[in-house]
Amino acid sequence: MIFAEWKPIDELVEKLKAHKKVLLVGCATCVAECAAGGEKEVETLAPLLSMALKKQGCSVEIITATLEKQCEFEFVEELIEKGHDVDAVMSLACGIGVQAMADLFDPIPVYPGVNTSALTIREEAGLWAGRCAACGDCVLGETFGLCPIARCAKSLLNGPCGGTRGNGKCEVSEDTDCIWNLIVERGDERGQLDSLAEVKKSKNWSNSRHGGPKRVIREDLR
Ligand code: SF4
Ligand code: SF4
Repeated sequence: MIFAEWKPIDELVEKLKAHKKVLLVGCATCVAECAAGGEKEVETLAPLLSMALKKQGCSVEIITATLEKQCEFEFVEELIEKGHDVDAVMSLACGIGVQAMADLFDPIPVYPGVNTSALTIREEAGLWAGRCAACGDCVLGETFGLCPIARCAKSLLNGPCGGTRGNGKCEVSEDTDCIWNLIVERGDERGQLDSLAEVKKSKNWSNSRHGGPKRVIREDLR
């Protein structure tokens, strides 16, 4: 799931205070799951923003909506009528949703209300951990299902590095598992340590961001 969290209210107020009517839009998928941008958060944030704006002497009308998805144009188009007279939009969706809104509402400014931070799994209530960096060339088949790109501080394909601690933690923090320690342990449990002895060559990074903007084409779906 894509994880995001609210930007500081002061930062949001700064963006909105020059406007007259703002559409605050949530998304009912990932950002709702992580309690940052679903309907509940939209309806909670709207009065908070109104109060903070009033305190600064700004009269800004805030209307709200929550879409099933903000990352698909067919859903975003539902908002054209509702937002026909706004002079700004604030989106609580991930960065993909914000950009879809920005395309639709151009030239009206669309501001992100959240910071999008990672592709995560919820490990327990209130704790999300990054599991994937969308690198475009998945190596999980060689690392027993544990991602060294997103979960190693150095994205090492051959580990662990010299910084791993004796207790299985990463050198960056006592609270962070060295993922390569976990990969080795899982390989050992499966009796497949030999597969890790072979030095892995550089992976294909051209599919990641390093190859320029990503564009994925599936001819069979066009
Ligand atoms: S190897 Fe790449 S695609 Fe696979 S889980 Fe890790 S970051 Fe994601
Ligand atoms: S200690 Fe482990 S997780 Fe941390 S950077 Fe080194 S190999 Fe990566």
